[in-house]
Amino acid sequence: MVFSYTQISSYLRCPRSYRLRYLDGWQEKDTRAGMVFGRCFEQALGALFHNEDPEARLFLEWEAHRKTPFAYKKGESWDLLLHQGVHLLQRFAQDDRILIHRPKQNLQVKVVRALSGGHQFISYLDAIGTLDRTPCILDWKTTTSRYPEVPHDILSLDPQLTSYSWASGIPEVAIVAFVRKRLPEIQYLRTSISEEQRQEFGRLVDTTVSQIEAGQFPSHGGIRFPQNGCLSCAHLGLCLNDHQMIETNLVRRAGASDLDWLDELVD
Ligand code: SF4
Repeated sequence: MVFSYTQISSYLRCPRSYRLRYLDGWQEKDTRAGMVFGRCFEQALGALFHNEDPEARLFLEWEAHRKTPFAYKKGESWDLLLHQGVHLLQRFAQDDRILIHRPKQNLQVKVVRALSGGHQFISYLDAIGTLDRTPCILDWKTTTSRYPEVPHDILSLDPQLTSYSWASGIPEVAIVAFVRKRLPEIQYLRTSISEEQRQEFGRLVDTTVSQIEAGQFPSHGGIRFPQNGCLSCAHLGLCLNDHQMIETNLVRRAGASDLDWLDELVD
């Protein structure tokens, strides 16, 4: 079997949700404008590093969704997201803090790591390049909220960055957060992942895969109100047997989709 960070984190959040998503095929519908816009924005970033026109690319990608009946957040619209995206692309080019040599090889880098039992763990790194001349893995995020910067080095505990570091063996990692707010902002956040963290993550993956192989899928919605993870779970309708919720949020497809490998930030 092939695993990704998204799958492992889904199992750790709630094994029952993992089973519904990856074994039974219940996928969340693409109804969140911010999520789809994030993918369009990443295409535009790719164009920038290939010396193409990023704004034209963003328009082209986002234009395909102009008539899609998305659930926009309050105050958002198709036009506003485009405007914010263009602003962020201009700011990013002006900042000029990221360098990617040979973008064909170093954008969307596929990393495959062998697991015990003949399984594989696949990661797609957004980019490998430099931030302020320091070589590192680069992870793009589009979001409406700033990333927390306190306490100091909180980023070093980010499990997704840890998984990228473990998969690639590269200790330096960074998030470039494109914050879509009234005055768009870009955060450049870099940290180091230690060898100990990488080994610990590897053990976590092995344990999780063993539990999946053993068919252990208990529900694990969260702790208690207000931290109940069920409230933000796409599979809530299935657990509550609420047909309207299922119809609105989910679609059933056999097998995994390509998007399993795209680790998008959920606003
Ligand atoms: S609704 Fe709760 S129990 Fe059901 S799959 Fe989601 S997180 Fe798990």
